Amino acid sequence: MLTDEKREEKSLNFIEEIIEADLQAGKYSQIITRFPPEPNGYLHIGHASSICLNFGLTKKFPGYTNLRFDDTNPVTEDTEYVESIKNDIRWMGFEWENELYASDYFDTLYQYAIELISKGLAYVDDSTSEEIALLKGTPTEPGKDSPYRSRSVEENLALFEQMKNGDFPDGSRTLRAKIDMAHINMLMRDPILYRIKHAHHHRTGNKWCIYPMYDFAHGQSDSIETVTHSICTLEFVPHRELYDWIIEKLGIYPSHQYEFARRNLNYTVTSKRKLLQLVQEKHVKGWDDPRMPTISGMRRRGYTPESIRDFCERIGVARRENMVDVGLLEFCVREDLNKKALRRMVVLDPLKVVITNFPEGVTEMCHSENNPEDVSTGVREIPFSREVYIEKEDFMEVPSKKYFRLAPGKMVRLKGAYIIQCDDFVKDENGEITEVRCSYIESSKSGQDTTGINVKGTLHWVSVPHAQEIEVRLYDRLFSVEDASSQEGDFKDYINPDSLHVITGYAEPALNEAKEGESFQFLRKGYFAKDPDSAEKLVFNRTVTLRDNWAKAGN
Ligand code: ATP
Ligand code: MG
Repeated sequence: MLTDEKREEKSLNFIEEIIEADLQAGKYSQIITRFPPEPNGYLHIGHASSICLNFGLTKKFPGYTNLRFDDTNPVTEDTEYVESIKNDIRWMGFEWENELYASDYFDTLYQYAIELISKGLAYVDDSTSEEIALLKGTPTEPGKDSPYRSRSVEENLALFEQMKNGDFPDGSRTLRAKIDMAHINMLMRDPILYRIKHAHHHRTGNKWCIYPMYDFAHGQSDSIETVTHSICTLEFVPHRELYDWIIEKLGIYPSHQYEFARRNLNYTVTSKRKLLQLVQEKHVKGWDDPRMPTISGMRRRGYTPESIRDFCERIGVARRENMVDVGLLEFCVREDLNKKALRRMVVLDPLKVVITNFPEGVTEMCHSENNPEDVSTGVREIPFSREVYIEKEDFMEVPSKKYFRLAPGKMVRLKGAYIIQCDDFVKDENGEITEVRCSYIESSKSGQDTTGINVKGTLHWVSVPHAQEIEVRLYDRLFSVEDASSQEGDFKDYINPDSLHVITGYAEPALNEAKEGESFQFLRKGYFAKDPDSAEKLVFNRTVTLRDNWAKAGN
């Protein structure tokens, strides 16, 4: 039952099919989803896919999505992460109905635990974690009952209260569900519900020294919020049985869990724990380093929310894990920036061209479109003079057959300006070409060309006296192998040592007006975004090249 304005001409993914069937059967009048990050790091591209899925569902179907911080682990969590997560979700273009915290439910969860104990469905275990592991059994052998399993309800209630009151040291006792030590699903063999941890929590301070485990917090939080479709990744499939068991035994709102495949991107890692190591050990400059697959890193690099949403839409929702090619993400951002980014000329590896028949000391204004894909962006002025920079690679002393750029005796057009012909060049003592000497054809000015000459090559260029020096940061893959996490040894052994190149570029004056974060197409060079580091001199991050050089290089 798609609402009219939310209906799209696309086939539904399997989760959408489930929801559509549920709505049609009248099971729900609206659906409620949640995005449940643990605030222990910055969000990455994998989270983006979960965000697009959860928020996307309630854009498509009647209902809403909550943002719930899954903050049951006091040690690794921080309010810095909470703020960054909220910022990233909003930037992605989504707004949550309620901002919630699993820690807000600590009192309720404590009551739920007492209820399970009272029903004889949970007990306090004095075993150490090693002892618990020893009795757990294996997938093919049943486990054995803990010696504390048959404690009376009264004793359990008293001990659990003492646990809460801080009478016991960390790790000395746990609260466990009393299910079945021979259960075929290992997670059902008396799972731990609460552990003792004398730790400060970023929201509840020192109020608690016992904290619920994931399995005793997640489903109950879903239920408290009457989440209809609780969507998580595949590793939680075996947890579903426990999720349902606890809800059933407590007789609370029956939320349901659905699983989809985790999304992994090649040449990077998508795990907050691993990304944290890269930050802490200074392999990158921070969580928002443009090489990071974090949402904040991608934003700084020049990715747009639209391109990330498009990527998530294209990879869709799968039931089986697979590795997604970062080339697809790059394709999506090229598509988007091609429509939006203003064009500017920047020479990254300069070679001076002297136009010998152009008067000295004269500046002539040329014009070029800001974006041929969007005429509403108008045209800009570009100063032209006797000396211009072109790229070194755009000149060849002895050109190959299909080389349509500058070479002795050959003509090219300087974009938005004139046709020039190469008459001569200068070499230094090392045989390096230091200067090219050309003449221009006065009647060939772009827009008013009367020569009828058809040149094959058009080059970008920058007038030497008007050139603005900028810092350009060129990025490559952060890892030199597709899947560093599955290699032998430490994943950090596979970091690409050459993932950042800093060079000086020479830009036309119009680039001075760039705003922080704004994206441009540097003609023939790629898409670049202005970095916040630009206080002293303009700094640009290369988002992506214009074409996929990586594939071409045979990698
Ligand atoms: P990480 O290992 O990076 O910490 P996580 O799953 O522990 O990931 P959470 O903060 O618990 O991170 O995740 C919030 C939500 O995002 C969860 O529903 C989780 O399933 C989803 N999610 C996390 N990583 C991915 C991924 N690579 N692909 C799809 N969804 C993901
Ligand atoms: Mg997690």
